[in-house]
Amino acid sequence: MKVGVLALQGDVREHVNSLIACGVYPRTIRRIEELDNVDALIIPGGESTTIAQLAEHYQLLEPIKERIAQGMPAYGSCAGMILLADRVLDAIEGQKTFGGLDITVRRNAFGRQVDSFESDIDFLDGENEKVHAVFIRAPWVEETGNEIATLASVIAPDGTTHPVAVRSATLLATSFHPELTGDYRIHRYFIEELARPALISRGVR
Ligand code: GLN
Repeated sequence: MKVGVLALQGDVREHVNSLIACGVYPRTIRRIEELDNVDALIIPGGESTTIAQLAEHYQLLEPIKERIAQGMPAYGSCAGMILLADRVLDAIEGQKTFGGLDITVRRNAFGRQVDSFESDIDFLDGENEKVHAVFIRAPWVEETGNEIATLASVIAPDGTTHPVAVRSATLLATSFHPELTGDYRIHRYFIEELARPALISRGVR
C-alpha cells in the first residue's frame, strides 16, 4: 500500500515517522504526479488556511478533492480535519477545503483559555486503553452527517460534548495529533480499518 503525506506545511515528518513505525513506506506529496502514485493520503496538522493556499498554488487542491470524492482513503489530524470537512465555522473569508467528510467543524474551537491541552480519551477501536490526545489550537466537530461515526469526544469547558475523532467509510479525522505522541494506534486504525479495506475492495493490495 502506498500512503502519501501531504507535505506542504505542518507536521509532515511526524506523520512520515508514524507510518514507518506502522510498517508502511510513506511518500511525501507536493506535486500532482506524486499524488497520482499513492493509494491513500494523510493530511497533517499545521495551519489549514496555509495548507489550502499552498495546495491551490501547487495545483493540488482540485486533484485531491477529486481523489477523495472517488474514494481515496484519507486521514487528517487537526488542520487536516478542517481540510477534510465539508463545512467550516470560524473560517477565514474564502477558506477552501478538500471536503468529503460530511461534518461541520469549528476552527480553534476550544478558545483561548485552553488553547492547547492534553487529555486521555476513549477511542472506539475496540481497545480498552485510552489514547493520549494532544490538542493544539484544535477544531472540534459541531455536526455530523448520517454516514459519520464518532470515535472519540471531549467535554468542553462549558460542559458541552463534542466529537474529536470521526470517520466515514473512507475518511478519518481527529482534532488531536497522534503523530506527536509516539502512539501509533490511530495510524494503525487508519491503515487497517479504512485504507486497507477500501483498497482491497478495489482490488489494490
Ligand atoms: N488552528 C489550526 C487551523 O485552523 C489548526 C491547528 C493544528 O493543526 N494544530 O488550521
